[in-house]
Amino acid sequence: MKFATRLIHAGMEPDPSTGAIIPPIYQTSTFVQAAPGNHKGYEYARSQNPTRTALEKALASIENARFALSFSSGVAASDAVIRLLVPGDEVIAANDMYGGTFRLFSKIFEKAGIRFHYVNMQNPENLRPFINSKTKLIWTETPTNPLMNIVDLAAVSVIAKEKDLLLCVDNTFASPCLQNPLDLGADIVVHSATKYLGGHSDVIHGCLMMNDPGLRDQLYFIQKSCGAVPGPQDCFLVLRGIKTLQVRMERHCQNGKKIAHYLRKNPKVNRVYWCGFEDHPGYAVAKRQMHDFGGMLSFELKNDSPEETKRVLSSTKLFSLAESLGGVESLMSHPASMTHASIPREDRIKNGLSDSLIRLSVGIEDADDLIEDLEHAIG
Ligand SMILES: *Cc1c(COP(=O)(O)O)cnc(C)c1O
Repeated sequence: MKFATRLIHAGMEPDPSTGAIIPPIYQTSTFVQAAPGNHKGYEYARSQNPTRTALEKALASIENARFALSFSSGVAASDAVIRLLVPGDEVIAANDMYGGTFRLFSKIFEKAGIRFHYVNMQNPENLRPFINSKTKLIWTETPTNPLMNIVDLAAVSVIAKEKDLLLCVDNTFASPCLQNPLDLGADIVVHSATKYLGGHSDVIHGCLMMNDPGLRDQLYFIQKSCGAVPGPQDCFLVLRGIKTLQVRMERHCQNGKKIAHYLRKNPKVNRVYWCGFEDHPGYAVAKRQMHDFGGMLSFELKNDSPEETKRVLSSTKLFSLAESLGGVESLMSHPASMTHASIPREDRIKNGLSDSLIRLSVGIEDADDLIEDLEHAIG
């Protein structure tokens, strides 16, 4: 089955008791057993819930994975991956990834004795000097947040395999519609389903996808032991959201392209970060590993004073100033003070994330209206 069909049909079976076409929201904490151990695969809802099972089947299918596990947030899903490690283990992580992931690694897991090296992975060879006998995991994200840098996943996976390391890819920005890291050699994919998968800014959810049954069992053990599981209502919302992922992404990509080109022509704009420009350093890799370039982009104003940045950020009507991304409505954010505030300023600037950078999550509204809104705000 093709991707657009799987989005709608994977994991969907008529409810056995009623024939309901949509999996019901099984709002229950426990399941009755006819005799000890005689149950229908469901015992206690932290371990399994039928709404979650339906969602996990769909999620596995759309990432071309054998298995998926769903969590109460994207960060909870990432947390489960690092719990595979033990004190003394080392991780090599991308140096410009999502701020919340950086906070999880640096503020929570460093204390637990896990060591993280942050590396610019735009050149995969940069990984090699950091690999030693304690290295267990490579963690990357592409396109990166918020600078839209591209990491060559196939090249990173060659190094991971050669050195027998796990490769985990945060695929939130591209979504399974534009990029499938497992097909490029990754071992684990993580998503914040809060973003494109849910797509409607109405749920916090995360998931992991993988092919290896042993890895799935270890991560399932962590999921049920640590308990960061989503409720059935949240699973229902994500299951509902992913059915329209393909049509939404097509529009996100079209609008993203129009707005990237508009901004580039705007004399008040300094630099536009969007991986679909042919002169973007990661363009060739993006074209190879992604089906399209997505609806995320960032830009800097020529007048990069804090006042002017703040003025533009508070002058739009359609673009709402808010954290998050990937919903049908357009959002605008200021990474330096919002999503990336937990990264020390000097590290941020060193990695190219300036104080004046503005990030857009381009929604699926009419592109002309969005451009008019930006034109009015940038002035
Ligand atoms: C939002 C986000 C996360 C964290 O997900 P939550 O659902 O907010 O916990 C992780 N990675 C990326 C790239 C994100 O954008």
